[in-house]
Amino acid sequence: MHSWRTVLPLRSLVSLAVVALLATAIFLSTVTSSRADAEPKRIMMLHSFGLRFKPWTDYAQFIRSEISRRAQRPIEFDDQSLLNARLTNDKTDGPFVDYLHALYAQKPPDLIIAIGAPAANFVQQYRERIFPGTPMLFTAVEARRVQYDQLTEDDTVVAAAHDFPASFETILRVLPQTKTIAVVNGVSPNETFWLGELKRETAPLAGRVELKFYNDLSFEDILRDAANLPPHSAIFWHLMNVDAAGVAHEANAALGRLSATASAPVFSYIDNFFGDATTVGGPMHSIEELSTVAATVAVRILNGEKAGDIKTSPTRYEAPRFDWRQMQRWGISESDLPRGSTVLFKPPTMWAIYRSQILTVSAVIVLQAAFIALLLQERRRRHSAEMDSRQRMVELAHVNRFSTAGEMAASLAHEINQPLGAILNNVETAKIILETEPPDLNELKEIVGDIDRDNRRAGEIIRHLRSYVMKAPFEKKDFDLNDLVSETVNFLSPQARARQVALRSKLTFSPLRINADRIQLQQVLSNLILNAIDAASDPTLAERAVMVATQDGEFAEVSVSDTGRGVPEEVAKSIFDPFFSTKKHGMGMGLSIVRTIVTTHGGQIDFENRNGATGTIFRLKLPLA
Ligand code: ADP
Repeated sequence: MHSWRTVLPLRSLVSLAVVALLATAIFLSTVTSSRADAEPKRIMMLHSFGLRFKPWTDYAQFIRSEISRRAQRPIEFDDQSLLNARLTNDKTDGPFVDYLHALYAQKPPDLIIAIGAPAANFVQQYRERIFPGTPMLFTAVEARRVQYDQLTEDDTVVAAAHDFPASFETILRVLPQTKTIAVVNGVSPNETFWLGELKRETAPLAGRVELKFYNDLSFEDILRDAANLPPHSAIFWHLMNVDAAGVAHEANAALGRLSATASAPVFSYIDNFFGDATTVGGPMHSIEELSTVAATVAVRILNGEKAGDIKTSPTRYEAPRFDWRQMQRWGISESDLPRGSTVLFKPPTMWAIYRSQILTVSAVIVLQAAFIALLLQERRRRHSAEMDSRQRMVELAHVNRFSTAGEMAASLAHEINQPLGAILNNVETAKIILETEPPDLNELKEIVGDIDRDNRRAGEIIRHLRSYVMKAPFEKKDFDLNDLVSETVNFLSPQARARQVALRSKLTFSPLRINADRIQLQQVLSNLILNAIDAASDPTLAERAVMVATQDGEFAEVSVSDTGRGVPEEVAKSIFDPFFSTKKHGMGMGLSIVRTIVTTHGGQIDFENRNGATGTIFRLKLPLA
């Protein structure tokens, strides 16, 4: 046990020392490696035509930003450009080679990216002298421009493959009537190479369309010619770096001018030349696609992969894209485009811009319409309910008139009996006169006159009764209220007489014109007068009278007052209710019908107990016609 105690700390010390040493070693290695990581990698970009020539500068720019985004370390870029590639093929490269040699002798770059065919050719040619062992990436170059057999194990290529027939087929497809295609191409060595390729590849079109190559014209002459192309022409923009007059054309200004003044649509094959409303579109290379591949390859090389081991196949045209503005300008409809085409720069539709507003407004309109429909339906229902209730009221009123007529039957029979009795008397008297010789003709004439009068009276009573119980539709007419009052008073006089009640009327001097249903208003008056007769017919009353009076003013007014005992206070609030009656055989519908008819006519009815006397006074107000 004891020996363990002394041995263990010794062993622990040794292991501790080993661990410490290891940790220091690991620490030092991370420091150095992170220092190596932190050390920026240097890329030399060798341009072919300078720093502002489309489409290469677009590629360079894209590749650069993609590398910076993808590489997880700082990157330094040097830009160098060939000077003479624009104009000649002559080999005055010597001083430039010396310059690069001097520049990078001490510290060669970690990667060289050659942009475009001349740069590729140049570095391939001077590889051994300037940058032996430095990895190289050739890009923004067409596969035909690379000398694959001279590639070293430190070289790799990210190329594009042009397909000119595809572009020309697209032109003939979207504008099938095309007869002439003018091809824009400059005179720099690179462009001269491509002129040959263009001519070779488009040769099969010879019978279908006339091809016109602009390679021997200055750009100003090209503009002039393009402005006067015959109808059904198109222009294919290949390159215009240096024109036949030796003028270099950087960037896209030349394309912009041509597109603005040409009498025919311009097509191209790289999307650098697309999007500024200069070219129509079609199948095209995407700078983004090629640049992304190139940047990925560059980063792999910087991370230590051998350039020669990285193989990529040339990028091809993407699915066709078209500029909607150019399609409008040249009358190309979407249905003419090849399948799988995308139309860009189409102005958003009203729907796309105001989608939420349109939805909100539509929702409001739909809601409002639903609400209006609901209200209309409600109104229709109310209207039909009103019609129903009016119809029912008319029928009820009719029943009420019938029962009133029944009540009056005795007095009416009595009333008719009088003229009939008088007629009988007169007939008897006439017979006697006829038997005398000679008969008194004057007397007979008088008797016949009396018979005629009595007959009319009886007829009148029957006619009146008939019209009273007649069932008639609701019908408003203009008439004088005074006429109706006196007619009704006459009609009810026999009843009053039978009940020993004095029925009187007091009418305004001038007529009271109203617009109403005559039969219904007669019923109103009848009900009020009969109630008044009922009230005043109590044999114990000292005075038994009913007075019907009309009055002029803002309204046509009728009042029916009686000398009865008045309406007791506890009964007053119910007398207009249906089926309310204090009478032994009363139906209780009279005043309810009265009130319905009056309100239907836009009038009012109320009552009060007569001031300072017994009895009640009912007041009815109707609008004047
Ligand atoms: P009915 O005559 O069949 O009873 P009404 O609706 O015409 O039905 O009248 C309801 C009630 O109102 C009567 O029963 C009566 O009590 C009271 N009434 C109506 N007119 C008068 C009046 N002129 N004087 C006193 N009471 C009246």
